[in-house]
Amino acid sequence: MNAFKDYFLGIEKPANKRIANTQKCLRVSGKHNDLEEVGKDTYHHTMFEMLGNWSFGDYFKKEAINWAWELITDVYKIDKNRLYATVFEGDESDNLPRDKEAYECWKHIMPENRILNGNKKDNFWEMGDQGPCGPCSEIHIDLRSNSERNAKDGKELVNKGHPLVIEIWNLVFIEYNRKANKDLEPLPEKHIDTGMGFERLCMVIQGKTSSYDTDIFQVLVREICLLTNSKYGHSKEEDIAIRVIADHIRAATFSICDGQMPSNNGAGYVIRRILRRAIRYAFTFLNKKKPFMHNLVGILVSQFKNVFPEIYKSKYLAINVIREEEISFLKTLDDGLALLNTIMEHSSEKVISGKKAFEIYDTYGFPIDLTKLVLEENQYELDIAGFTKALQEQRDRSKKDAQSKNEDWIILKDDEQQEFIGYDYLEAEVRVTRYRKLTNKDGQLYQLIFNLTPFYAESGGQVGDKGYLETDSGDVYYIIDTKKENNTSVHIVKNLPKNVKTSIFRAVVDSKQRFRTSCNHSATHLLHQALREVLGTHVEQKGSMVHSNYLRFDFSHYKKLSNEEIKQVEDFVNARIKENIPLEEKRKVPYKQAIKQNAIALFGEKYGDTVRSIQFGKSMELCGGTHVSNTSEIWHFIVVQESAVASGIRRIEAISFDDVKEYFKNQADIVTQIGRDLKSKDIVKSVSQLIKENQYQRKLVEQLINEKKKFILTGLLKKVEVIEAINFISESIDMDTKDIRDIAFQLERMVENCFIILSNKDKEKPSISCYVSKSLTEKYKLHAGKIIGVLSKHIGGKGGGHASFASAGGDNHKGVEELIQNAREIVCQVQ
Ligand code: ATP
Ligand code: MG
Repeated sequence: MNAFKDYFLGIEKPANKRIANTQKCLRVSGKHNDLEEVGKDTYHHTMFEMLGNWSFGDYFKKEAINWAWELITDVYKIDKNRLYATVFEGDESDNLPRDKEAYECWKHIMPENRILNGNKKDNFWEMGDQGPCGPCSEIHIDLRSNSERNAKDGKELVNKGHPLVIEIWNLVFIEYNRKANKDLEPLPEKHIDTGMGFERLCMVIQGKTSSYDTDIFQVLVREICLLTNSKYGHSKEEDIAIRVIADHIRAATFSICDGQMPSNNGAGYVIRRILRRAIRYAFTFLNKKKPFMHNLVGILVSQFKNVFPEIYKSKYLAINVIREEEISFLKTLDDGLALLNTIMEHSSEKVISGKKAFEIYDTYGFPIDLTKLVLEENQYELDIAGFTKALQEQRDRSKKDAQSKNEDWIILKDDEQQEFIGYDYLEAEVRVTRYRKLTNKDGQLYQLIFNLTPFYAESGGQVGDKGYLETDSGDVYYIIDTKKENNTSVHIVKNLPKNVKTSIFRAVVDSKQRFRTSCNHSATHLLHQALREVLGTHVEQKGSMVHSNYLRFDFSHYKKLSNEEIKQVEDFVNARIKENIPLEEKRKVPYKQAIKQNAIALFGEKYGDTVRSIQFGKSMELCGGTHVSNTSEIWHFIVVQESAVASGIRRIEAISFDDVKEYFKNQADIVTQIGRDLKSKDIVKSVSQLIKENQYQRKLVEQLINEKKKFILTGLLKKVEVIEAINFISESIDMDTKDIRDIAFQLERMVENCFIILSNKDKEKPSISCYVSKSLTEKYKLHAGKIIGVLSKHIGGKGGGHASFASAGGDNHKGVEELIQNAREIVCQVQ
């Protein structure tokens, strides 16, 4: 309905007064949030299709009600005797009467005892706190068996949360506009907005009692059972998990294909939460510890590609992003579980402190309900009050950290509104109109507001200008940063200027820093264009940072960029720089006009009616930042790093202008230095020779080590001490721990009933490897891990391991002999 708001308010005229459509609806946050119900019940979904018909100032209640009835009873042949209608009962606080008009319409259609009154919550539809709204009439259906229906009248169950007496269609009669002061204002025209859940309609038409039993979900349910080796309809918990996965994979896939990547905040976090909820249900209730959900995307795509072609286009994006999310969250779960096990092992009590549980939650993002479940399974209890307390303390702490103390503004001149002139000027004569003292963790600062300012305040990812204030008498005050507050530039200085009230200052922006920043900002736009050109139009800006020394750009893309792709991106940007493209800046373009001309607006960003557009040839973006006047000023562009920020989101860090010159200079210095070190003029040839030589030497060293190992092995075989039935072998060897283990391993295969204990020699820290033949672990219950665990005290360290292999590391070489002697004694005693 949001899309049609302007039609309802009479701000815009629609091309057609009547339309019918299907919309993908996501109800997982805000006013309508069904997330926690989904899977537990059988008729709420996180994402569902809403079928609707609309009238913009055309037909009204009578037609809407009659046609709805005709469609469901005549066309779809739904049993009339199972249907109920509700009408708005009126509301005193809003001074609204009962919806008699709707009642009269229904009276001609169904017996009066099936028309029920409904309150404001169910029968007065509002999208949010403000905007178009009106009374509504819902159609409900009773899907219970005849015997149940005879036992209890369906009308008593309407709007009572019964899983088989549910709403299928809501007819909304839009006639008011809710104002900010809560008043209702009649709209110039009356409108219709109806919504029928497609999944619920299917359930009714196909004679099912759960939408998961319809053909919309059955294909998915079957595949989930196959992939997770589970059965639907056998246990309550498994069924919920299967429904959760079937539902959530749809919501996640559709959202990702519509351009919303999972992330750590905002709308992206909603998608991440949906996916994690499904992964967690599979993990806990279906024992599925490996990624599998991405394998469901293909089925969804073949099911829906004819209705929503966008999911076909972005199929592989969705598969990759979901797989990444699965891998990373399963790793989180694994790490959290390992930590939880260690905590339980080391706990002398059967209660785990809330503080510890909070640590796992905080550092690993491990869900607290899972912690609780795992603890319960192991007969441990969780100190939930302690957890809540730790959570609250952390919230308080971060609140406190974020707080800085501001004194009240001292107003020097009240009547002036600040003007920003920084697109055209870098200096100006200014007066201070307001100032205040600020104390934060870095000390004391002052914030100044001028009557007008050439200083760009930090916004849109671009850093704030620096510069200085100068008085006639030559006093200088440095402006160390400029921030935005309520659309006003706030200049930050360390010291309050003398005669702040009366002085006129020359405010000067650091033009060098500004220019470098502008180069990076314009380069960011070209980079955005290059990425869409090279990788595809699924690339969307997800964040950016424009600094004077570098730029950082986050964007949606599902895999690491290859070196070839990075080079193509650099080449594209540098080609635009060489083309000397002049800046075309428009300061006040109507938003709609700019969008029509294909200007890039940021997803989720709010824009006013008029916007500023920045164009360099085919790159056009809505942007408030500062830019070069011709691309040639950027000089050159280089990507210095490409990395992942979150699954499905990549980051590019790049430099331009003087930083590239510095970069080139440094690279040249490095090459010169290498040339000098190698005493070579042909560096490439010399380096490749060096690599070859190195490979040859490595091989040689490896051969020698192998020879040495053989030699030591032969020596050790001669040194076997026979202690009754056990062959005891001990030695300190001058080799790496890895090679020593190798030797022990080989010995163990050559000598039966052996107990081997080897240590390194002449290394800074002692390390011990111990092998025990399986026969001995069985016959004498010798356990290498336990023995080494105890004996490691001799070398002042820690150790442990399995029954037949263990290792230890320590600080004290002198203890090695004692450790071996002690092991020898143990071997003697067990027999
Ligand atoms: P309910 O009380 O069942 O949650 P609602 O009052 O929230 O429904 P409306 O906001 O009037 O529903 O939405 C119109 C129609 O959309 C409903 O009649 C129903 O068919 C469908 N619908 C609403 N929420 C969901 C959901 N979470 N999943 C599937 N269909 C839904
Ligand atoms: Mg609802």
